[in-house]
Amino acid sequence: MRIGTGFDIHRLVPGRSLVLGGIKVPSDKGSLAHSDGDALIHAVIDAILGALALGDIGKLFPDTDPRYKDINSETLLLAVLSSIGSHSIVNVDATVILQAPKLGDLTFDMASNLARILRIDPSNVSVKAKTAEHLLGELGSGDAVAVQASVLID
Ligand code: MG
Repeated sequence: MRIGTGFDIHRLVPGRSLVLGGIKVPSDKGSLAHSDGDALIHAVIDAILGALALGDIGKLFPDTDPRYKDINSETLLLAVLSSIGSHSIVNVDATVILQAPKLGDLTFDMASNLARILRIDPSNVSVKAKTAEHLLGELGSGDAVAVQASVLID
C-alpha cells in the first residue's frame, strides 16, 4: 500500500466557471487557470502521483503547453490513471476549502463523479467542504478555492 497527498489552489475571478470534481458549481466566480481549473481533480492527481513518486501535475502537464489550454481535468486524471500500471486506487479523501458558495450536497455529486472516473465504488470516495472562516486572505474573502486530498493505492 502507498499513500499520497495532494494540494491545489486557484484564484477565483468573474467570467470563469467553477468546476470541482467535474461538477459545475453555480457561482459568480470561477477558477483562473490554464486548464479548466478543477482544483479537486488536480489535488487528486497530485495525490496519486505522489503515492507512486511519479512527479507532479505541473511536470506532467505544464501550463505553458497550449495542448492543456482550458482542458477538461477529467482528461488529465484519465491520463494519469493510464500510467499507474497494475496499481489500483483504494480510497480517496478530499477537503475543499471554499468560502462561498456553500457546496452542500454537491460534495456527494463530486464524490460519485470521481468514483466513476477512478472506477471505484462511491463508498471509497469522500469529498468534504469547509469555509475558511473568513481567514487566510484570498481563501477567506472568497477569492480563491483550495483543495487537499489523500489517496491510498494498492
Ligand atoms: Mg490546479
